Amino acid sequence: MDWKDYRADEHFVMRDAPTDAKAAREAGLDKQTAAREMEKNIARCAELQDALYADGREGIVIVLQAMDAAGKDSTIKHVLSGMNPQGVSVTSFKQPSKEELAHDYLWRAVRALPERGRIAIFNRSYYEDVLVVDVHDMYKGYRMASRCIDESEEMFFKKRYRQINDFEEYLYENGFRVVKIFLNVSKETQKERFLARIDDETKNWKFSASDLKERAYWDEYMKTYQSVIRATSTKHSPWYVVPADKKWYARYLVSQILLDTLEACRPQYPELPRADRENLAACRASLEAEGGEGAKKEE
Ligand code: ATP
Ligand code: MG
Repeated sequence: MDWKDYRADEHFVMRDAPTDAKAAREAGLDKQTAAREMEKNIARCAELQDALYADGREGIVIVLQAMDAAGKDSTIKHVLSGMNPQGVSVTSFKQPSKEELAHDYLWRAVRALPERGRIAIFNRSYYEDVLVVDVHDMYKGYRMASRCIDESEEMFFKKRYRQINDFEEYLYENGFRVVKIFLNVSKETQKERFLARIDDETKNWKFSASDLKERAYWDEYMKTYQSVIRATSTKHSPWYVVPADKKWYARYLVSQILLDTLEACRPQYPELPRADRENLAACRASLEAEGGEGAKKEE
């Protein structure tokens, strides 16, 4: 099983998508090997990120979506561990504030977009506006012109899918790649992780009773994720549905996806124009002319 096999298309079927690491085991990939491979991927990502930053011609947005306790936070922590923090930003999209609700739904996402040369991680994203907002019919209470909300629910979200596809294509055409990852955890594993959060005092802060309320909508969420993923997995902005019951496997796959995205950018260190190179040589000569003991190598 290759990480590419987790790329979803318009025929994606949620109930066929694995949440476990069976495929890894069948391919002979165990926890230790995956951890080693992940370290290698992370080291390579760090090199490429450095070049991406220097190059400054492409930016990357990684969208992470998941049900609660799927491991978004710890995946971010692990996969970004080797990166230069100056080139990376992480934005968590929570329930919109009053100010955010008074704007179009992409407004806050636009404000969190990276500059070219940088990577932005979206911990949840504008996809919430076609997920939780659909599952709970939130849009019906929005203060918007009636022409925007009076149509059928199906039409409302169909339009949003189109808007999201247009937005991501626009970004691609302007030098940004948007890659979307759904961490696919099973309902059983979520239960185990919730129980651990309740039983372990150091994890209590991560649990909220409202997580249980959302869990009650599990089937509705799966149905909605399926239609969102089908409608918005495009050539330039694919969705990867990553099994997340085993964190080691999910992290390994996410590191592969990030590495592939960075490689696709083919970042190059900028080459200095001839005049600047000549200037460097002149600077070197002038430093050497200062005399003294010569340059000591820095540790
Ligand atoms: P964690 O629980 O690990 O800290 P989280 O991402 O679940 O991370 P929470 O503060 O628990 O963070 O939840 C954020 C909540 O905000 C989620 O329930 C999400 O569905 C909701 N949310 C995000 N965006 C929107 C939106 N545009 N409209 C309505 N609700 C949203
Ligand atoms: Mg939460």
